[in-house]
Amino acid sequence: MTALAEDRLLAEIEARADEIVALTQALVRIPSVNPPGEYYRDCAELIGARLAPRGFSIEYLRAEGAPGDCEAFPRWNVIARREGASAGPCVHFNGHIDVVAPGEGWTRPPFEAGVEGGRVYGRGTCDMKGGLAAAIVAVEALIDLGAALPGAIEISGTGDEESGGLGGVAWLAQRGWFSRPRVDHVIIPEPLNVDRVCIGHRGVWWGEIETKGRIAHGSMPFLGDSAIRHMAAVMEALEREVWPALDGRATAMPVEPPGARTPTLNINSVHGGQPDVDPAGGLPAPLVADACRLVFDRRLLIEEDMDEVKAQMRALLDGLAQRRPGFRYALRDLLEVRPSMTEPDRPVVLAASEAVRRVLGREAAVICSPGTYDQKHIDRIGALRDCIAYGPGILDLAHQPDEYVEIADMVASAKVMALAAHALLTGQVR
Ligand SMILES: [Zn+2]
Repeated sequence: MTALAEDRLLAEIEARADEIVALTQALVRIPSVNPPGEYYRDCAELIGARLAPRGFSIEYLRAEGAPGDCEAFPRWNVIARREGASAGPCVHFNGHIDVVAPGEGWTRPPFEAGVEGGRVYGRGTCDMKGGLAAAIVAVEALIDLGAALPGAIEISGTGDEESGGLGGVAWLAQRGWFSRPRVDHVIIPEPLNVDRVCIGHRGVWWGEIETKGRIAHGSMPFLGDSAIRHMAAVMEALEREVWPALDGRATAMPVEPPGARTPTLNINSVHGGQPDVDPAGGLPAPLVADACRLVFDRRLLIEEDMDEVKAQMRALLDGLAQRRPGFRYALRDLLEVRPSMTEPDRPVVLAASEAVRRVLGREAAVICSPGTYDQKHIDRIGALRDCIAYGPGILDLAHQPDEYVEIADMVASAKVMALAAHALLTGQVR
């Protein structure tokens, strides 16, 4: 694009700030809360009806058979596609339409989407209806300028990201919607700050360790075998053998914040013995615990192998079984996500970084996310490595009370997305 045409595109988007705000408000006012997965169809239709007049063909796809899909809460997704004037790559913008429940602590109505002090407030403004609105208006401005665009542009609104994406991007990826030759580049406008290009995320292994014991009267613990004491031995082994080994490992992943540039292990919960509160208000029964469960959250770097990490945990537990009389355990998988990272020199990364430089006048930070998002499905199921997350909003505000998105950030990110899409479609990536 010539500098002059770029200037026109950027001015066009600047002039559409009110449209971005209005579209964000319209999306936020549909309370598409997940779980349980409400109003997906309404959100999908808002997006479809908006894009159809601009020459997009619209497909509504219900993820039948996905977890949670039922007549009361059908998992609807929308994919809009517009063919260009000639052959070329397909640039796809994907946003999740579900939001988490508002929770407590709001000082404003969470689904009114009020504007105040240059911000739009409400559940989903930041994560990530504001980003989706910015992407849509960015693409509309690009189309409305009238220049012939090669390739194709797709915009999707998908569900269930907040619960793992199984009824959204994963379901679609399994059916070829996120693979070549249909799609070449994917930009997910998740809230990662307007000057940061996110190329991937760490992996996750959630598991549950259960230690077993033998019940007995609390006054004669020697007649039983305490599952809680066995769990204490597990935790001691984690302290001694696992945590020290996690620190100081080098990684190619530029995770933000830097504290997450190592593998991490969190103990989410420990439950053993009788409930500690008697429902009738009395004291709980004095018993030796016959079972204790610990749920952990292990985050993996791109250099780590999931099977190896699991084998190490099992070896730690087997070691205890050999050393410690009576030690018996069960290890269960609750959730696993492999890490994903797009190579930093892929066109989609370069195009977004160059656009950040052009719009904001500074270098983009290329980062990875400590948590996961739908990139895992595009990479691992769709086998498409050319995916980034880039969008407005401050990640720390996601899922918080009084969530908001800055209007100026939405406008800036829309400019970045329009320039990046244009560069990718026309092959003008520097
Ligand atoms: Zn999100």
